[in-house]
Parts: sequence; C-alpha cells; structure tokens
Amino acid sequence: MYRYRRELGKKYWYSYSVLKKWYRCIPICLFLFQVALLDVDICGPSIPRIMGLEGEQVHQSGSGWSPVYVEDNLAVMSIGFLLSSPDDAVIWRGPKKNGMIKQFLRDVDWGEVDYLIVDTPPGTSDEHLSIVQYLSGAGIDGAVIITTPQEVSLQDVRKEIRFCKKVKLPIIGVIENMSGFVCPKCKNTSQIFPPTTGGAQRMCEELNLPLLGRVPLDPRIGKSCDEGKSFLTEVPESPAAVAYQSIVQSKSSKPQQASLFIHLPHA
Ligand SMILES: [Zn+2]
Repeated sequence: MYRYRRELGKKYWYSYSVLKKWYRCIPICLFLFQVALLDVDICGPSIPRIMGLEGEQVHQSGSGWSPVYVEDNLAVMSIGFLLSSPDDAVIWRGPKKNGMIKQFLRDVDWGEVDYLIVDTPPGTSDEHLSIVQYLSGAGIDGAVIITTPQEVSLQDVRKEIRFCKKVKLPIIGVIENMSGFVCPKCKNTSQIFPPTTGGAQRMCEELNLPLLGRVPLDPRIGKSCDEGKSFLTEVPESPAAVAYQSIVQSKSSKPQQASLFIHLPHA
C-alpha cells in the first residue's frame, strides 16, 4: 500500500510554533502529494491526539520505523507513539532530545514524500537547532511562524524570527492566530486578544515579512482537535475554516501547491 523507498522528499517545510500547549494543529493536504508530518515536540507531543491517532504504535521493519498513516498520503511520526500512555512524561535534556530527532529523520521509513512538515514546540531551543542542523543539507523551504495578536506573543515571535535569520532559515510568512472572535449568533467580531501594538500586521510591516493570514478564535477548533477530527471537514463554512483555506491558497504561490501546517488554539 505504501511505497517504501528510502528517499526523503524534495521539499521541507519547517513549521514553527510560537505558542503553548493549548495549541493544536491540523494539516491541510492536497491529495496530490505525499506528506510526512514530524512532531519534534518531544516533551509535549500532541500530534497523535489531534490527528486522531492516539493509541497507535509505530512498527519496526527491516527498513526502519514505519510511521503511522492518517491517509494514504499523510504519514505521521511523533514520540507520542512510543509512549505507553498519553500521560507518560518525557523528561530529557538536550542531547537525548537531539538523538531522538536524529532518529526520526534517519530511522523512520517515510517512503517517498513530497513534503516534510515539522511541527516544533515554542521557543528557540534544542529541537529547533537540531532540526535546522540535521536538515541543513536538504534545503529547507522555510519556517511558517505563528503568533497571536498580543505584544507578549509578538515579543517571543520576534526572537524566533531573529533565530531564523541567525541560522539562515528562510521565513515563508507569519500567521496570526486567535485573531478576533466571530460570534456565531450575531456575526460580530470582538477582539479577545487586542492587538495593542498593531498585531502581526505591524510586525510584518516592520520586519518586511509576508503576513499569510489571520485565523479567528473558534471553540469548535479545539473540539475537533480533542476529538482528532479535521476542523475543515467538520465546519467548512466557519470563518476560521475560510481563513485557513485562503492561507493555503495564498501560500500555494510559493512554494508551488504546498500543503501547510497551522497551529490552532485549543479553546
Ligand atoms: Zn453575538
């Protein structure tokens, strides 16, 4: 069913999470592509739950660890699959984390993939340094940076942007998450997290980065993530789903027809 060719894909996307554990994610994949999703959040792996894969295990074969498949064209790897229970804690220092990330890249039989999407924890730490280092020869397309509108979040994000520049990692663009709340009843928008310093838009203007889009708060996103369902198929007409689609479309211009990985609020 799956192709087991030992060839890691042509394109690498580096998704850069800025936010905390209450962020959850969904992938938006075009069916034309083979996509690999790698969760390098060693201490807080939430991808298995979000993707509806909790309780799944990776299998060892002659050609390495087999990732877990959500769809025929979407393979997932996370340390969460290696833990005996979702409540197990991984308490590791840098070198051990780095070793695990290296194993994920080297020993997982991803098959032939078009895109590798890496979901990172927030910050500029071991995980980020090692993934950039280990993939340096592969030509990473760049980082997608996610923020929320408040200055406290933007401050962290500016550090992460500086990190990317330091390690010469291109920045594909910035997404503003929790960008207002559209009331499902009266359709009015309220600012739960007011962009007191101009939000992602002002930051992008100052730093000359593309703002890929804004995703409003929607409690149904958190619900979908908890239940391991795709928000886009659950509530496709919601303002947040429309925002995702438009980000994917705007993004598709560069690199061509890519899939995009977005962190979502766990409301
Ligand atoms: Zn209302």
